Amino acid sequence: MGDRKKRKDGSSVPAWAAGGDEDTFATIVRLGVDKTGEPRFAESLIKKEEPSVDEFVNGIRSANKTLLAKAITLVESSSAARYSKGREILKLIGPDPGDSFRIGISGPPGAGKSTLIEAIGLELIASGHKVAILAVDPSSSLTGGSILGDKTRMERLSREADCFIRPSPSGGTLGGVTRKSRETIHLCEAAGYDVILLETVGVGQSEITVRSMVDFFLLVLNPGSGDELQGIKRGVMEIADLIVVNKADGDNMDRAGMTRSEYSRAVQYLLPSTEGWEREVITASAIEGRGIRQIIDISRAFREQTRESGLFRNRRREQAFSWTLSLVEDFLKENFYSNAAVRRRIVEIREKIVTGKMLPTDGAEELIRAYFGH
Ligand code: GDP
Repeated sequence: MGDRKKRKDGSSVPAWAAGGDEDTFATIVRLGVDKTGEPRFAESLIKKEEPSVDEFVNGIRSANKTLLAKAITLVESSSAARYSKGREILKLIGPDPGDSFRIGISGPPGAGKSTLIEAIGLELIASGHKVAILAVDPSSSLTGGSILGDKTRMERLSREADCFIRPSPSGGTLGGVTRKSRETIHLCEAAGYDVILLETVGVGQSEITVRSMVDFFLLVLNPGSGDELQGIKRGVMEIADLIVVNKADGDNMDRAGMTRSEYSRAVQYLLPSTEGWEREVITASAIEGRGIRQIIDISRAFREQTRESGLFRNRRREQAFSWTLSLVEDFLKENFYSNAAVRRRIVEIREKIVTGKMLPTDGAEELIRAYFGH
């Protein structure tokens, strides 16, 4: 029954009920709320609280997509405390989290990368793989994400349980985006994704960066005329292990075949992207599903060959070291621009530079001096 108290009219009510001495009432009610509410309140706080590092690691290892996504948010975070938690997770996961194959996919906007990725992804999942699709798009912080931003582009794939899709981090600089993407690859591999498809839009430096993160690099092109052949930078063809002329269907059939021959001739004179591997140019139709099996078979053959020769492992190790260096560069850069003396001087120096009162070399020297306290 619990404690009861008497009201002025003689009736009795539970001790916590309204009525009687107001001071007592107020006190009792507050106590009551504390006593009954506290555990629930504390519980709800715990629930809202972020999981611990161990919970994250265990969750990721047992393929919990929610925790994987949250961990990626941590490594993408620009808050030092949150990133540091992300790093602890990465540390526990270790440098070689899973037996995976990383494929980079690049090409001009509209060449059919997303459509192709969806077709490849579905085929891989059907043969028992777990596929993570990530994007590297340094322009996304400006454009709001020109690739993988629109989930409807991979509608069927995104419904698959064995697929994880993550749009490009908005990191501003390519360096920032790259760091986050590399760490995201590791997290995905720890969650059991054994094929990582890394998409980048073919508009510049980002392909070279993506090449430094993947085992195999696929270039997707439109069927076109010889003029377009000129437009594709030689350097981009040079880093490709396989070139796919997409949209080989309908009226484009012949044109795609001709384009394939032109590119085949053009790549004859290029150095291989991977030592000992002969780059092929093939046609495909992502929409009709033609050539998808061939792309997968070629990438498998590549994996086997490079694994046997030891190149696969060596490349990964070299990539890990170049990642190390890029982390050093990121650190130094951030440290420099957050330095109090640099921050104090930079506005004034900027003003002088933009009004033509100071040479950039002198401006740089002054900033560096300020940094070192001279
Ligand atoms: P992305 O910008 O490179 O990712 O290109 P998308 O995958 O978004 O495709 C751009 C356009 O090309 C879309 O309208 C697709 O439907 C179309 N497309 C993609 N693949 C094919 C294909 O194999 N054949 C044809 N005819 N059109 C395609």
